[in-house]
Amino acid sequence: MELEIETFCRLCGAPLAWRYIEHNWLVPLDVEPSENGTVAVSTDNIGHTLEGTALATSRTCGVPPLYTLHQPGPGCPDLCISGGTES
Ligand SMILES: [Zn+2]
Repeated sequence: MELEIETFCRLCGAPLAWRYIEHNWLVPLDVEPSENGTVAVSTDNIGHTLEGTALATSRTCGVPPLYTLHQPGPGCPDLCISGGTES
């Protein structure tokens, strides 16, 4: 399940969806699920960073889908902070 595209990274153009992690940390997520992801998004649109057994189970079953934080990388040297303008 793709997340709804909210903004695009100004640096690399990647579609992003912004989610709060554990209610207090707003981060850009790549909208496509990734097998390397660590963030599950619950039905209330809150991101939860999984680890340990929960992470292993999600990766094995593909449920819930896991997303990656949009990280700086080649072509995207900055943290893309700017899209989190919610009103
Ligand atoms: Zn980017």
